Amino acid sequence: MNSDSVPLAPDAHPRDASWAAALPDDYGALLRDGIDLHVHGQPDVSRRFANRGPDIDVARLAHAYGLRGWVLKSHLWPTMDRAGLIRDALTDIDFDVYGSITLNPPAGGVSVTVVELAASHDAKVIFLPTWGSAADVARGGYIPGRLTLAAPSFPPYASENAISLTDGNGALTGAVRDVLDACRALDLSVATGHAGLDESRSVAEYCAGAGVRVLITHPLHYIEKPSQLAEFTQLGAFVEFCNAPLLHPDGHLTIRDVYVALEAIGPQQSVLTTDIFSRWVPPEPECLRMFAEQLSYLGISVPDIRQMLVSNPRRFLGLTVSAP
Ligand SMILES: [Zn+2]
Repeated sequence: MNSDSVPLAPDAHPRDASWAAALPDDYGALLRDGIDLHVHGQPDVSRRFANRGPDIDVARLAHAYGLRGWVLKSHLWPTMDRAGLIRDALTDIDFDVYGSITLNPPAGGVSVTVVELAASHDAKVIFLPTWGSAADVARGGYIPGRLTLAAPSFPPYASENAISLTDGNGALTGAVRDVLDACRALDLSVATGHAGLDESRSVAEYCAGAGVRVLITHPLHYIEKPSQLAEFTQLGAFVEFCNAPLLHPDGHLTIRDVYVALEAIGPQQSVLTTDIFSRWVPPEPECLRMFAEQLSYLGISVPDIRQMLVSNPRRFLGLTVSAP
């Protein structure tokens, strides 16, 4: 798909596009004005592993689906300047692309200076380490496997540079506290990346005390029962549910797991995102539509879905939220 083939769609229902003709008339209804907080660009782990079309084309597609914006994330490199180039290419539509940095070793790790420099390039979200976290190194998983295909020397590098967010007593390290303080001072939002359960709890507690907006990144990956999520929401943290693991051939989560979790904690602090970067799934906006439609089918109300797609992402980003 090239940029010309996706019509500009202020009302998000371009019936003259061939792909749109294959969708229900109101396909964008649940997504309208939503922000996907977890979009991996093209490429992410390697240019060898194409997951979908170019960022600008897929951003136009997202707009055609009714979405209002993205947070662009990368496991390797800062996305701020890339987000700026996408924004510059999309001045004809109302679509925001926010940049982020993930504090993995190649990007500088957990460092207040890295955060300050990222802020100077208009970062909006600071992701704590993903594959660079000690918890993730211990778990292994899909991302390290892909990165090893891209860089054969990756496994020892990851082990030698693994970052723990807490010390031996379970307290956040000074570097993490400094980073969270900098995020508060710079009005940046924080996501927990691939931190472990105890680390995420410590981050959420600190952020609650310090007044930092924090998103617990896909906690269904490591909690044992949905009621554990309430520990986070009671601290004011947002909790993320992603579509990607529900579609992964090696995944053990289903849409019903998300439904059960939402039944346990409600929509008040929950957000729905995609987090896809595999070529066996549709582009992000269609993944998000599938996610929202399936939750609707299972019984999550439309206002609750809209809250998780529209107002909660805006609250997390510190943006204005209009009355429903
Ligand atoms: Zn991700």
